[in-house]
Amino acid sequence: MLTELLQQRGIRDPDVLRVMGDTPRHLFVPESLREFSYDDHPVAIGYGATISQPYIVAVMTTMLRLTPAHRVLEIGTGSGYQAAILSQLAAQVYTVEIVPELAQSAEEILRELGYTNVAVRSGDGNLGWPEEAPFDRIILTAAPEEIPETLIDQLAPGGRLVAPVGIKTDQDLLVLDKGADGSIQTRKAGSVLFIPMQRSGS
Ligand code: SAH
Repeated sequence: MLTELLQQRGIRDPDVLRVMGDTPRHLFVPESLREFSYDDHPVAIGYGATISQPYIVAVMTTMLRLTPAHRVLEIGTGSGYQAAILSQLAAQVYTVEIVPELAQSAEEILRELGYTNVAVRSGDGNLGWPEEAPFDRIILTAAPEEIPETLIDQLAPGGRLVAPVGIKTDQDLLVLDKGADGSIQTRKAGSVLFIPMQRSGS
């Protein structure tokens, strides 16, 4: 069902379609809202967070161009759904969530479902995960006003970062590539609407 919807909306990557077709999205949504799990909308998961719309998950995952060797950092674990998708296309996923309750419930569901290559940390994503850096890929699923320099520093040469960036309803999806020589190239890849990323200390 979800696969068909994503295909209709133009998602072509066979690996992304397969993995999103295989992943039980309803188990990442609060029980009372499960009937909406497979609609193409974000769903509230408490603490002001949402599980992103399937189409956007598919778009951002496709843009990451993952390989099975990649180590990936996600900022904004939320329900754990995006992390579950990433974990099936990469070697290891590190995901950081600022709300401890969400980090804990995501960790539990990921473990229950057997996504063993995901490490969840409760903390401020502006700091990244320095002990595990550098990362081949970084994805932000909350929108900062600007991409934190710390995260760019934690991206490996040849790496790619995908993030919603902007203020409130004026956000662009940015794709940032770091060249082998460390040079940075950024391009806009559409308009999106994510919840704001909390700033350090706020
Ligand atoms: N990827 C999630 C969607 C997350 S919604 C999913 O698949 O369900 C955005 C999440 O970012 C929220 O859970 C919010 O609490 C978290 N967040 C906001 N600011 C953050 C920060 N500074 N560091 C880490 N997480 C943050």
